[in-house]
Amino acid sequence: MTQYDKHDPNTIYPAPPFPKQEQSLPGAAWKMDPKPDHGETSYVGRDRLTGFRGIVTGADSGIGRAAAIALSREGADLVLSYLPDEQRDAEEVRDLLTSEGRKAILLPGDIADEEYCNRLVETAVDELGGLDTLVMVAGRMDSNDDILTLDTAAFDSTFKTNIYSLFWLTKAAIPHLEPGSTIVTTSSSQASSPSPDKVDYAVSKGAVKIFTEAMAQQLAPKGIRVNSVAPGPVWTPLQPGSDDAETVSTFGEGTPFGRPGQPAELAAAYVHLVSPESSYQTGSTISVAGGNPVF
Ligand code: NAD
Ligand code: MG
Repeated sequence: MTQYDKHDPNTIYPAPPFPKQEQSLPGAAWKMDPKPDHGETSYVGRDRLTGFRGIVTGADSGIGRAAAIALSREGADLVLSYLPDEQRDAEEVRDLLTSEGRKAILLPGDIADEEYCNRLVETAVDELGGLDTLVMVAGRMDSNDDILTLDTAAFDSTFKTNIYSLFWLTKAAIPHLEPGSTIVTTSSSQASSPSPDKVDYAVSKGAVKIFTEAMAQQLAPKGIRVNSVAPGPVWTPLQPGSDDAETVSTFGEGTPFGRPGQPAELAAAYVHLVSPESSYQTGSTISVAGGNPVF
């Protein structure tokens, strides 16, 4: 099967109930049951990004891994960002991409740290010879249904990871981006339909959407486009990392397709927004949410 084969979206991928499972953050793709599909065996490239040089954050697992595989198969050389604890997942991605003849350079670190964000951009420029796209997929989500027990450290960590990193990485990247370059952020359906137990996360994702819209206007004169992808429920380690086993077992049930999306189903949105084919698109958000209404 490839992404171009016709199929019924209701039945192509696993639906709940899923085996009960929990992990601690950041979670690992290799521990998930069933295994997420990141497009390893299905994504077919069509030379849409030949010669592109990019950074993908959160590239070890989930949506970031699917984006990295797709961008690489379209011809891009990449620097892959992830947390040091995720080395095993990251090496799987690197080995796959380099075995296909592309550059995939690993640089673990914490994007909640400005110095690491600067180093990530410098590494891409040095190792790839420049930068054409900054694809920011990394994110932190945790659950807490009572603001009285949501502590400042958790709130701070969510904002540092989900929104300060965009500020730092974008600032570091701009001096290297020529006209025709692109920036892609990752928001969430939580930005428009927040859950009561995800206050800090939902607010940070709302900020991602606004950051995207404001920066798109600021960078338009430089010929740099800024767009966002807003996923609905997607089968990644973020869920067993932040929700209880019961919630994970029914994940995606409430969507019209009755199942969560797989990371591979978001890859084409990132490719489209990175590629010159979306040249009149900036400040926009592509929602990939399995039919849940997005406002
Ligand atoms: P994931 O756990 O596979 O990916 C998130 C990645 O973020 C991790 O792999 C990790 O490398 C990275 N990360 C987290 N904190 C970091 C830090 N401090 N420094 C560096 N890297 C860090 O889960 P995913 O679902 O693929 O998440 C990708 C993005 O999609 C996130 O921004 C998430 O908020 C967003 N999203 C996911 C869903 C979903 O249902 N899975 C829904 C809406 C939005
Ligand atoms: Mg991960």
